[in-house]
This record gives sequence, C-alpha cells and structure tokens, in this order.
Amino acid sequence: MPRTALRICPLCEATCGLTLTIEGTTVTGARGDREDVFSRGFICPKGAAFGGLDADPDRLRTPLVRRDGRLREATWDEAYEAVAAAIPALVRECGPQSVGVVLGNPNVHTMAGNLYPPLLLKALGTRNFFTASTLDQMPKHVSSGLLFGDPFAIAVPDLDRTDFLLLLGANPVESNGSLCTAPDFPGRLKALRARGGTLVVVDPRRTRTAKLADLHLAPRPGSDALLLAALAHTLLAERLAAPGALAERTEGLGELAEALARFTPEAVAPACDLTAAEIRDLARALAAAPTAAVYGRIGSCTVEYGTLASWLIDVLNILTGNLDRPGGALFPLPAAGPRPRPAGPGKGFALGRWLSRVSGHPEAKSELPIAALAEEIETPGEGRIRALVAIAANPVLSAPDGRRLDAALAGLDFMVSIDPYLNETSRHAHVVLPPPPPSQSAHHDFAFNGFAIRNQVRYSRPAVPLEADRLDECEIHARLVLAVSGRYGSAAPSAVDEMVIHGVLAKETADPRSPLHGQDPQRLAGLLTGDDGPERRLDLMLRLGPYGDRFGLGGAPGAGPGAAEDAPASGAAAEGLSLDRLLAHPHGIDLGPLRPRLPEVLRTRSGRIELLPDPITAELPRLRAALADRPATLVLVGRRHLRSNNSWLHNVPALTGGSNRCTLQVHPEDAGRLGLTEGGMARITADGGSLEVPVEVTDTVRTGVVSLPHGWGHDRDGARLSVASAAPGVNVNQLLDGSLLDPLSGTAVLNGFPVELTPLP
Ligand code: SF4
Repeated sequence: MPRTALRICPLCEATCGLTLTIEGTTVTGARGDREDVFSRGFICPKGAAFGGLDADPDRLRTPLVRRDGRLREATWDEAYEAVAAAIPALVRECGPQSVGVVLGNPNVHTMAGNLYPPLLLKALGTRNFFTASTLDQMPKHVSSGLLFGDPFAIAVPDLDRTDFLLLLGANPVESNGSLCTAPDFPGRLKALRARGGTLVVVDPRRTRTAKLADLHLAPRPGSDALLLAALAHTLLAERLAAPGALAERTEGLGELAEALARFTPEAVAPACDLTAAEIRDLARALAAAPTAAVYGRIGSCTVEYGTLASWLIDVLNILTGNLDRPGGALFPLPAAGPRPRPAGPGKGFALGRWLSRVSGHPEAKSELPIAALAEEIETPGEGRIRALVAIAANPVLSAPDGRRLDAALAGLDFMVSIDPYLNETSRHAHVVLPPPPPSQSAHHDFAFNGFAIRNQVRYSRPAVPLEADRLDECEIHARLVLAVSGRYGSAAPSAVDEMVIHGVLAKETADPRSPLHGQDPQRLAGLLTGDDGPERRLDLMLRLGPYGDRFGLGGAPGAGPGAAEDAPASGAAAEGLSLDRLLAHPHGIDLGPLRPRLPEVLRTRSGRIELLPDPITAELPRLRAALADRPATLVLVGRRHLRSNNSWLHNVPALTGGSNRCTLQVHPEDAGRLGLTEGGMARITADGGSLEVPVEVTDTVRTGVVSLPHGWGHDRDGARLSVASAAPGVNVNQLLDGSLLDPLSGTAVLNGFPVELTPLP
C-alpha cells in the first residue's frame, strides 16, 4: 500500500512543504502539503519531479576510489582511509593552504551542508576557501556587512504587505525567489497587484515576471548601479527622502547627496538607455508609495558594480524609510539562529583581511573568488593548492573558464568530492563520497529561514529509511572532518557533533548574559533530544534560539531586546521551541510576520547603520567613470527556467526537454542585422573563448542583448549523467576568462559582458 510522508522540498530557495507518495522505498509522487504553515500547498514542476530526482539511476550508490587511474567502487572505510592517508600528510608537508575547499550551491539546501563545512574548514585551517557565493550573491553579503556590520543581515521585501515592489535583475516567476524565501512567489506578486499595489520590474528581458508588472523597464545590463544611484539622487535632490526614525540610527546620511551628486538622471540615462523622465518618475512613485521595497537579485549582483548596486538597493530602502518596517524590507529572525543581543557597537565587518596568493584578490566573508581557483591550483610556489575538497560543487560548469579549471583539477595531487553524481567536476576526484537521495535525509532550512518573508520553522525526518549500503549525509560529512584531521578510526562520527554541543554549552554557561549562566553543561547536554548528532544540534539551536525554551531556565521565548516585537505568534512557540515541540507539528510552526529588528540587528563598530563606509566611498569613482563608458554593441545575460536550477537538475527526464533548452535568445532586430535566423546556428565569442549555439529569435530580449542560460555543457568525458549528456547544451561560462570581477566582493561578472556573434552555416 502506498503511504505518504512530509518532506520540505530542497530544490530551490522557496522551501515548499511536500507530501510524498511512497511505495515500498520509492517516491512515486509529490504534491504540495496544504497544511504546511508556510507554503500552503504550493508546488512547482521541480517539486513535482522529486521522485524522478530521488530515484535517478545515475546516482552513485557506493563510494568511488581512484586506483590505477580509474574510479572504482569501494567501501566507505576504504574511501575515508584514502582521504586520511592523503590530506593530513599533505598538510604536514606543505601547510594548510595546500588544501582548498569548494562548496557548491546545493550545500545551503541540506542540513549537512550547513552544519559541517565550518568544522571542516577549522580542521584544515585553510584560507583557500571558495563557494558558489562568488558566482551569485556575495555582493549582497558585502553590502550588508558594510551597512549593518553583519553579512547575513539581509533585509527581504515584505511581499505580502508592501504597496510597491521594485525588482531588479530578478525573475522569481521562474526562479521562485532567491535571498527572499517565499513559496508561491508568483502568487504573492499577483496578490500585490490585486490589492492595488504596484510592481515594477527592471530587466533587459521581458521575463514572465516582467509580464506581470505594472511597469517594465529594460535598461542595458550592468547599469543597475547607475540607475539606482540616479533614483537615490532624485530622492535627495527633490527632497523626497524621508528616512524617518532611520535617520537617528544612520551615519553618513548628510554626506550621501555629495557622494551621489554626479548621478543625475540626465547623466545616467544614456548609459542605462532609459530616459531621464523615466528615472525621475520611478523615483517619485517609489517615494509616494505608502510602503515600498526595493529588491535586486542575480542580474544586479553578478555584474561589474554588483556590490554598489546591492548597497544602493538598501540606500533606497533607507531613504524612503522602508528599511525595517512592515511593508518595506525587514530582517527575518530564524528559529535556529542566534537570539537577539543587546543593541550597541559590534565587531564590524572587514574586507580583505587576507589576499589570494596569485592575483591578490581580497577575501570577502572569508572566501576567495571562485574565478581564481584555477590559478591557485596551477601556479607553483608556496601555498599552491595541491588537494581539493569539493562538496556538492561543480565549478567546471559554474565558474568562468571551465576548460582551464578542468585542466587544473586534473593536475591535483588529491581531490575528494561529496557528490551524488559523477559530474563534470567530481570525475576528477580521487575519492567520491555519495550522499543518499533526498528522501533518505532529514531536512531543516538553516540558511533559507534567514531570508524568509515570514518567520516559521519546519523539520522533516527522512521520508524513507536509509538503504543498507548508504551513510547518512551528515555522517558522511562528520567522517570527512575526522579523516582530514587525522582522527578517522580513532573517534566516532558522533564525537564531531558532541564537540560542537559541548563547545556551545560551555560558552553559554560561562556567559553572565545567558539564561544558561552557571549551569552544568553536561547536564544540559543530557537534556537534548534527537535520534542522532544532527538532531541534537538542531534541538540545541532551537532551544537557545530566539523562540527557544532555554531549557526552562528563564528568559521567555523571544526575550531580550525587542522582546515585544519578537513574541512568537503561535501557542506552540509561546511555550518555547525545542525539537520535541517541532516534531509534534509536522507541518511546521508559524512564528508570525517579520517585525522590525533595529537596532539589535546591527553589528557595526558604531552600532549604527553605516551608510557610506570607506570601501563604498572608494568604489564610487569607478562608477562615476562608467558614466563616460561607451556601451558595447552587444552584451550577454543569463536566464533562469522554472524546470532548471543551475547545473543540478539536467539529468531528470521530467525536467528536461520542451522549451527548457540551451538556446541563444536574440532580438529580431539584432538577428536581422547580423544575418541570424530562428533555429540557425551562431558563433558567440567573448574574451574567454567562443561557442556554437542554436539561435532563438525573440523580442522578449531587448536589442543589444543576447541571453544564454547557465549550468549547461554536459559533454565532458568521464561524467556519468546519461540524460544530461544526451542534450548537453553549451557552457556559457566558457566565454569568460575569469578576469572580470566585482572587485569588492570577488564575484564573477556573469551578466552584461560584451560578446560578438557571427552566423554559422
Ligand atoms: S518552488 Fe522550489 S521549493 Fe517549491 S516545489 Fe518548486 S522547487 Fe520545490
């Protein structure tokens, strides 16, 4: 008899609750969980394909170890022993920088990927740390770090209450949202319009999101920072700025007008290819809205001025008084996150505490640009990366110049991948450790609850028992921590979790401000529930978090600064959260709408919002110089598709085919000018190389812009992706040489770079 089980969907940032149909141990169906406190039954085609992804026959079932040049099936012990034999010895001989760590985007979609990489990095002691953030949202982390002192203090648009939403470089109808966790984003946009609100979309493509908008502006790609600066300039010049109570909490407001003086609508209009009147009208509409939120995503981040654009988005939210107020942009308060601390000066946020070895790129949030990974492997000298730990990472497809990285990875002394597939990157590994299918893993969204438009908490236990020959994903990570630190075989994987638990409790019980002060940490550890280490860690985080039960030791849930505002919404949370209480609510616990959190969220040295931090001031002259740039004739942008997510869903038959194709979209005028025809082939060339691509002629992309999706190019030998390799597409990042970065964040410029097109027979 089929049965059902609940599982939070891990396939995008929307985190919808799913009801899985299971026959035996196979997931045969997935529908939206109508009782889920957050998603209320919403599901998209990716979620509906959960079973296909889960049962993909190309998933690796056993570890692989390279012997005699070939990857062969091995036992778990053989795999970890190979890691333990290689990495600690290398660290002893060549130092900790000889081991690099790369984390891919799926890490933020798993419990293991959130809980263990910090321990792995600590065990290795390396600064050669790279993630998908420098292909994505790092500019937002940097701007938040500079403005608020905390790179994770990212204000999200209050979608359900705002009167006016300005979206830049975001296509949530296809992506379902990013850095803004909101199941049924499309429905929420329609609801905004239905209640009389206004949706403005700024995008060089007439996306499905743009088609929903009251106003769609299609400026030149990469000009968002100029447009935003002109909007801010207009607010200031026309005395429309009304920061209200934010004025008292903000440093640098008085100097902002001078800093932005050159960015008049007239000055930026030619570079944006908009009219000055369009820019002024937008600024006035933004100022006139009762509440408003400005939100930018990938198209505003992965560009030459990505950090400035991200900063200016919050400048606008501040100038209009919309930061930290209902209907504006608010800071979430996740249940497993830190509890609010007293307001006051913090440690601040620093950039460039160290530099990459070869090109001297500054670190940001302890990360180096992933575009620099190949040169860090290739270039001889002290500190060269000779071994790599890659977790759910496929930089051969996701980072610039995959061919160069391909060659660099092939030259490594040692590489270990945690990956369910033998993909374009993991095929270089000496050891591959495959996690189980998602139905066999527990799930809690540590990362995305921090960007959610409503505070809520949900947890799914594995929907299907772990198969006999598999290891739990958290145990795979814990064993890796032990193996790289030379402790494999001498300590149980659970020791990794217990070390964390005891470390946290020791700190809390020694802190006079903690409700746990003076308690016995051993006794408290004994009170934790959960079937395994990760569950005990989750229990600890929930109990010590903003809504936690604090082990019944005082301090009401949500107590501390802003207690009244943080009071949880539901009865279950009012008793104080713990894992047991959460397990009693399988559809989750609603913790209420987002509430103002200033000033406790601030961690700047001043304890205030620092509106014009030095790195931003130093970067503005570069943006001023862009006013005089002569725009390229043709530039490229990426695009998202509802049934795709980066490179990781192209092996699921239900999600490939149809219109989900790797085509180059070209406007009819450009196609005519260049002699390109629908369905014909073109050669596209940029600084990093050239590709041959099928042409799709469409007026959904503006003139002067072509669009090619990312994550494709599944044509490498040695990968085992039978569906993806049958329709491989081309890898857009092969057009890049990796030299073009947003300098403050180290983020690769993946959008708005110049290309040339020639027709092919
Ligand atoms: S919107 Fe995202 S989280 Fe929701 S079902 Fe689709 S892929 Fe899953």
